[in-house]
Amino acid sequence: MTPQESRPKTEALFARAVSVIPGGIYGHMSPAHSIPEAAPYFAERAEGCRYWDIDGREFIDFMCGFGTMILGYAHAEIESVAAAQRARGNCFNHPTQHFVELAEELTSRIDFASWAVFGKNGSDMTTWSIQVAREATGRKKILMVRGAYHGVDAWCTPGHGGLIPEDRLHVHSFCWNDAVDFKAALDRYRGEIAAVIITPFHHPAFGQSDMPEEGFIETIESSCREQEIVFILDDIRAGFRLHTGGSHRFFGFDPDISCFCKALGNGYPISSAVGREALRVPASKVFLTGSYWNNAVPMAVAKACLRILDRDRVIDHLDAMGRRLIDGLLEVSRRYGIEITASGPPALPYITFAEDRSFRLMQRFCRACMEQGVFFHPHHNWFLSAAHHETDIDQAIDAAELAFSRLNHEN
Ligand code: PMP
Repeated sequence: MTPQESRPKTEALFARAVSVIPGGIYGHMSPAHSIPEAAPYFAERAEGCRYWDIDGREFIDFMCGFGTMILGYAHAEIESVAAAQRARGNCFNHPTQHFVELAEELTSRIDFASWAVFGKNGSDMTTWSIQVAREATGRKKILMVRGAYHGVDAWCTPGHGGLIPEDRLHVHSFCWNDAVDFKAALDRYRGEIAAVIITPFHHPAFGQSDMPEEGFIETIESSCREQEIVFILDDIRAGFRLHTGGSHRFFGFDPDISCFCKALGNGYPISSAVGREALRVPASKVFLTGSYWNNAVPMAVAKACLRILDRDRVIDHLDAMGRRLIDGLLEVSRRYGIEITASGPPALPYITFAEDRSFRLMQRFCRACMEQGVFFHPHHNWFLSAAHHETDIDQAIDAAELAFSRLNHEN
C-alpha cells in the first residue's frame, strides 16, 4: 500500500502544510527527521501512553511528546487541576499564587536552590542562565560539551541558517568525559569564562548516550568553584526522570543553576531555572519575561505534577518499565542474531544497531514497529512514562520481534 492509500488524511494535510508553512512541519518534528513514509505526521488525540494520528492509526508512544508527558496523556488529575484553574483564568496582568508556591516547591526539593524563575521552553532558561552567569562574573565565554543540545537560540542551535560568526564567538566546546580536553579549554580561556554548561549525562541525537565517567563532573565542578565560573546544569531532558530532586542528586554533584522543562508540566508549557543564593542579585538583573510566562494553568499543573511524581513513585516505575523494554529488546534481538546496544538510563533509553552508522537498520526497524503501532524514534533517545505498563511494553517487544525477523528476511 502506498502512503497515500494507507494514510490519506496525513498526505492531504501535509500537502496543505507545505504550501503555507516553510518546510511543512519544521524542526525536530519534521518527517524528514524521522521515517517519512511510515511516521505519523499529525496527531489527533491521545490517552495514557497511546496516541492516534489523523488517519486513526494508533501508536504506543515511546517519545512521550519528546519527553514532556511524564505522567501520560490526558491524565485525569492533571486535567482536573488544569480545568479548575482555567475556569478561574489563565493569563492575567499579574502572576498568581501558583507562581510563588511553585517557586517554594522547587526551592524546597532542589537542595542547592534558593530561588526559581519561570519560562515556557527549555531554551528560555538555558539562554537566560548564561546571561546570569555573564552578569555575575563580568566575563564573556561559555564552555559547553561538543554535540550537546541546549536549545534553539543563536549561541547553541545545531542549525546553520541565519547565524553570524559573532553568535558563537564566545562559545567554546570540549569533549564529554574528557577531563584533559576540559582542562585545556579552561586554561586556554583562563579568566574569561562565565559559565560551563552540561547535561547530567551526554545524550546527543544520532549518538549513543554516555553516562559521566567517575570524576569527570567532579572535575568540572571543582574547577568552576576554583575559578568562580558559574556551573549550569541543563536538566531539561532528564530532569525529574532520574531523581525527584534533580538529576545532580542522581549523579552526586552540585551545580549553581539547574534548568528544567519537559517533565515539569506534563505537556503544559512551563520551564524553570533554579539557582544558588549567591546568584540571586545577578539573576534579578537579567531581564526575563514573555507574553505567557506567568500563565496560571501550567504553574498549577506543575505543582500537581511534582506531587504526583513523588506520591506514585513515578521514577521507580520509569526505571522498571525502561529495564523491561531494554531487556526484552536485547533478548529478542539476540534470538534473531542481531546485535543492538542500549545506552543511557533505562527511563530514557537510546538504542543502536551494531555497524549501523547510516542508521539504515534503525530506520528499517522503527518503520516496521510503526507499521505495527509502536512509535520508536530512529535517532533520538526514547522516553518512558507513568502510563506505560507491562502489557504496553510487552506489546512493543512483540512488535520489535516481528521487526527483527523482517530485518533478517530482507538481508
Ligand atoms: N536542553 C535539552 C537537553 C533539551 O533536550 C532540550 C529540548 N529537547 C532543550 C534544551 C531545549 O528545550 P526547548 O525545546 O523546550 O526549548
